[in-house]
Formats: sequence, structure tokens, C-alpha cells
Amino acid sequence: MPVRRIRSRVSPRVRALQRKFTRIRNPDVAPLVRGVPKVPRRPAEQPRSLLEFQRAFSDEAACADYMERVRWPDGFACPHCGVVAEPYRFASRPAVLRCRTCQHDTSLTAGTIMHRSKQPLQVWFWAAYLVTTQTPGMSATQFQRQLGMSRYETAFQLLHKLRGGMVRPDKDRIGGEWTVEVDEAFVGGRTKGKGRGNTDAPLVIAAVEVRERIHPKSGRRNVYAGRLRLRHIVSRERAELEDFIKDSIEPGSDVRTDGWVGYDGIYRFRYRHDPMVLDGDHDKIEQHLPLIHIVFSNLKTWLRGTHHGVSAQHLQAYLNEYVFRFNRRFYPMTSFASVLGIGSVRVGPTYEGLYGGEYIHPNPERPRRLRVSKVSDATRRRMSLKARRDQ
Ligand SMILES: [Zn+2]
Repeated sequence: MPVRRIRSRVSPRVRALQRKFTRIRNPDVAPLVRGVPKVPRRPAEQPRSLLEFQRAFSDEAACADYMERVRWPDGFACPHCGVVAEPYRFASRPAVLRCRTCQHDTSLTAGTIMHRSKQPLQVWFWAAYLVTTQTPGMSATQFQRQLGMSRYETAFQLLHKLRGGMVRPDKDRIGGEWTVEVDEAFVGGRTKGKGRGNTDAPLVIAAVEVRERIHPKSGRRNVYAGRLRLRHIVSRERAELEDFIKDSIEPGSDVRTDGWVGYDGIYRFRYRHDPMVLDGDHDKIEQHLPLIHIVFSNLKTWLRGTHHGVSAQHLQAYLNEYVFRFNRRFYPMTSFASVLGIGSVRVGPTYEGLYGGEYIHPNPERPRRLRVSKVSDATRRRMSLKARRDQ
């Protein structure tokens, strides 16, 4: 009965229009218009070693061919007229396809993180490969040296564009059947002439799944980290913590935290909250939040070791990279393809946006500007006290 009423509101004319637009909808552009873009499937074959990679992507044409298969797995569809047909190709411009129906030229990199880049596709492919398959990732300086770039800024920008491709636009929430540990910590940043615990270091909140498996031989129960989420936050205020938890964790999940009051209200969002006052007690931490402290300590080591500390402005981009690699650490080779696949539906930062601070590094799920709120002295003292206990 209600179904019929809803149907009758749409006139046959409108329905015909809907059908028409659904049919000619361009698979490449439409997902962006309709909100959450779908990540394209990636071609099945993937290089498994440096030599294989070098052989597979030996020239621009090979890279262009791969890009094309990533973007149009079911054959090229003209973004201009929507016709699916074999396009014209040019040996001198492998990154351009011309529609045989409307003669419109389509760039393989248009609308991707590589948009309007002066760098050859091969440089992008190497960058994606090196960043995703090397366990510690890569700093802009190392990268500039290895690929023989003349300017540091070019390498820096290219890496940040790749990081833009490391956040799945359709990212789902973690938890569900797995318990999730949540905690915050100060990471990176340089403490200039300040006392211990009194820090300008940016604050990061993390959520990690606690997974279990039975070891096939010993039969022992083995706890390991599942998926991870990280976000740069401005303060330990309740609203920020709750926003992160709502964005990152499936309602109904078990959530373990320390005794910080900011977490007291999360039961309102249907989480089963398990807080414990830890007071810096190592045994209690070991028992209650064993994984998240390992995550933070590895994150800090990575930021210090590979990137020599990062500014708060770009911290989220590095967090995204860390999460990307962490969540794919058992499959390093597939992540190379993921970065290019995801990159094909996301536009990266421009040079001006990156340096002028206009570009917002995608933050899991809900991109937003960081609130510039002044933290009162009393709050800062409370936060530093907690930080000192956490160390
Ligand atoms: Zn066309």
C-alpha cells in the first residue's frame, strides 16, 4: 500500500527521464556527482618484485595502458558523450584518448591525483610503488634523490598528492565483532625549550581493532591489531573525541578507553564502553590497552625517523599514509595498485593549496577544517599531566 503511493508520485515522464539519464550516465564522472565515488576495480595482474615492476612499466605507453584499465575496466567510455567504444590512440601522446563518436580528447589523468602534472606517468608509478611497498615509506628528500628531481618542492607535492589517494572515499567503520581500543597521544612536533610534558606537539587520536586467532601449530590464542584509524585533533574535548569515534567505529562495538572523562558519554551513541583508570600503571595498560600503545610508539618512531618530525598542518596526510600501509601490511603489493585505483577518483592538492594551507588533507570520512580554538592554560596543564602519565 505505501509503496504504491510513493510510486504514483513520480510521473511517467520523470521516470522516462530517469531511465534515459541512467542509461547514458558516464561511469567515470557520475559517481563523483552522486556523492560517494566508487573505487574502480584494479587489473588482476600486479608486479611482485622490483624487476617485475620495472619490466611491466618500462615506458609511458605501458603506464598509460595500465591507467586505462584501472579507470575503465569494462572498456573506455567517453566522459563527454558517454559512448562506450574503442578510442583513437596516439603514439606521441599515450595519455590521451580520442572518442571516435564525438572526437573529444580525454586525458587519462584528468580528475585524478595526477591531473595537469608535468611529471611523466612513469615517475608517478615509481612513486606509488616505492611509497606503498617499502615498509617505512619514503621522505620527500629520499624520493627527490632517487628519482633525480631537481626541486624538493616537486617531490614534496607529488608525495602529498599520492597521500590524497590513500584514503578510500567509501571507507567503512571498524569494530563490529571486534573490540576497539581508543586513545590519544601527542606525536611528533618539536618541543622547544619547554619542560617535560609541556608540549606544542599535535594531538592524535587512534582506534584499533583487537583481533584474535588461534595459532595453527601451538594452539595458543594470539592477539594482533586489526584495522586502524587515526585523526589529528585539536584538543581532548569530548566533542572531538566523540566525532572521531562516531566516524570511525561501528555502533554496537565494544570500545576500550582509559578513564578520561571525555569518553564518558559515548554510550549515548550505542557503544559498549569499557573504561579503566590506568594512572600510567604498566601492568594495567598491558592488560587493558595493549595494542594502541604499540601503534603510537611505532607511529612516533616513523614520523621521527623517516620524516624528522612533521608540521601540524600536514600531519593528517602522514597519518593517512600510516593508516594506509598499516591496514595493508599483510599485502604490500596490492597497495601499489590501490593507490593508483583510488587516485583515479580523487583530485589531489595544487601547489598553491598545499603551501597556502587551503588544501585540507582528507580526514577519514568527514573532511573539515581544524577548529582554531585557544586551549585555556588550565586545560593544557591537565592535558600535559595526562600526557606525562602516558609516557
Ligand atoms: Zn565521445
